[in-house]
Amino acid sequence: MSQLTVAKFGGTSVADHQAMLRCAHIIKNDPSNRIVAVSASAGVTNLLVRLSSPNVDAIEQQNIIEQIKNIQHNITQHLRTEIELNQQIEKLLAELASYAQAQSLNACSRIADAILSFGEQMSSRIFADVLQSIGVNGRYFDVRQVMKTNNLYGKAVVNTALLSANCQQQLAPLLANQVTVTQGFIGQDDESYTTTLGRGGSDYSAALLAEALNADNLAIWTDVVGIFTTDPRITDQARAIKEISFGEAAEMATFGAKILHPATLIPAMRHNIPVFVGSSKEPEKGGT
Ligand code: ASP
Ligand code: MG
Repeated sequence: MSQLTVAKFGGTSVADHQAMLRCAHIIKNDPSNRIVAVSASAGVTNLLVRLSSPNVDAIEQQNIIEQIKNIQHNITQHLRTEIELNQQIEKLLAELASYAQAQSLNACSRIADAILSFGEQMSSRIFADVLQSIGVNGRYFDVRQVMKTNNLYGKAVVNTALLSANCQQQLAPLLANQVTVTQGFIGQDDESYTTTLGRGGSDYSAALLAEALNADNLAIWTDVVGIFTTDPRITDQARAIKEISFGEAAEMATFGAKILHPATLIPAMRHNIPVFVGSSKEPEKGGT
């Protein structure tokens, strides 16, 4: 096996079929991309957050689940595997509905995390099929098999030693034959309950996977063409930064540059893994 890149696609990058297709081509164009961690399709996690709050009545629950279903069906309708995929999604949504009902009766943080995990569970299944639709052997993998955490629901802490052992055992052998598509943001505690790593946690998941697999590169694909000196939405004086040290980037993340999750870089720093940040909409523009 030559180079290994772990690629992460954020919510806007997997928002619809066109966006997912662009990401699939990014994977296809660089064969070092062997592990892909995806966020939930844009908007889905926010809907799930609402669903996970106490006192959501049955009508609103149904309405939210319907909205989520539409977001995902708008993608699956473009795929040859639409029927099978929709069956899987229906099954997940039925499970989601029962968690939502339980939560509305007796809210707890454990069920909230179960609810929040469904966005990534769906987007990762769909993205694997989008890869297949362009001839890449994309395969779904449930990250909860390797991403073991404590039970601090909503902000779970990953057991990196266990993650590393699990990745070597379960993911490393798959690298040669497939592109493994898995979830950012979610994990599992030692009682097999689903956990989440905190909002925006997919970047961190990807960095942890890169560290655990000794990856050569971590690619964070988002909706901006790299890290800017200032927020490009606020001023047209903003300049894309070609290269930035870990320390400076972490500082910018902490101070609200909002491109990278503050903790994202820690695993990459520990392991000295170069991190690329670019736009999945305009990959040809390069990035940081
Ligand atoms: N889907 C999760 C969120 O929106 C995780 C992520 O996108 O990084 O917070
Ligand atoms: Mg997101």
